[in-house]
Amino acid sequence: MLGTASQVPTRHRNHNGYLLRWDGEGLLFDPGEGSQRQLTLAGVAANSVTRLCLSHFHGDHCLGVPGIVQRLSVDQVRHPVRAYFPASGQEFFARLRHACVFYDVVDLREQPVAGDGPVAEGAFGILEARRLDHSIDAIGYRLVEPDGRHFVPELLAHYGIAGPAVGELQRGGSISVGGRIVGLPDVSEPRRGQRFAFVMDTRLCDAVYALADGADLLVIEATFLTQDAELADRYGHLTARQAAQVAAECGVRRLVLTHFSQRYANTARYLDEAAEVFAGDIVVAEDLARVPVPRRF
Ligand SMILES: [Zn+2]
Repeated sequence: MLGTASQVPTRHRNHNGYLLRWDGEGLLFDPGEGSQRQLTLAGVAANSVTRLCLSHFHGDHCLGVPGIVQRLSVDQVRHPVRAYFPASGQEFFARLRHACVFYDVVDLREQPVAGDGPVAEGAFGILEARRLDHSIDAIGYRLVEPDGRHFVPELLAHYGIAGPAVGELQRGGSISVGGRIVGLPDVSEPRRGQRFAFVMDTRLCDAVYALADGADLLVIEATFLTQDAELADRYGHLTARQAAQVAAECGVRRLVLTHFSQRYANTARYLDEAAEVFAGDIVVAEDLARVPVPRRF
């Protein structure tokens, strides 16, 4: 969590910014102003960033792009960095990308998102985008890891498979032990892939549920408390209760509430409101907190 404030940074909260570390990938979501320094405070090198995912072009979700892009250049990051954003904001991205003069050596590959569906696919899984319901074009993301299998230690022991033989079985799909062939299904069980969802500025809409469906970790805006539900609807935002209801209906395992309005002196009530409707794990985000993606066994 690089930053957790909506609209304006506060004494205690930086503008938005979230880095998801996922296998060899570093997905930087919605870097608001100050995200470059927040990376430093978090102890994360700029070259961990492999993808830049923007939900929309309000400042709290993108004013950090110039700093991040220039830092990637200063640090001479060698790998390509993909940038996803709503296609209608191409003009804004171009300005942020070239906001001022710098020695530009970063290999930044723009991939404007024009519709719902997959935007990237790789060993990490599938990154999908969906259009949300905000005052301007906004998209949410989810990352779905492919399902796999995991070894059952008791079954490995039963067949007498240990040490390097386990790797051999994994690579080859079967192995010969004491004259008999043991296949992967004999000693493993299906393991569902992990899922991550990122839902920023939006009213409740079908896309919110589609993105959050079965997420192990859901990072979702909860700009307002229920007392200000009318404001939330007017400006295209969610309340803590709405965000938690989504988590409950979608079978989310860990819910992260963030993007807080500066109107509330403290966020304790966010937890109370969310806990009334969601029984899973709730994290009220704080800057520089690290939140693990719950594992799948
Ligand atoms: Zn915002």
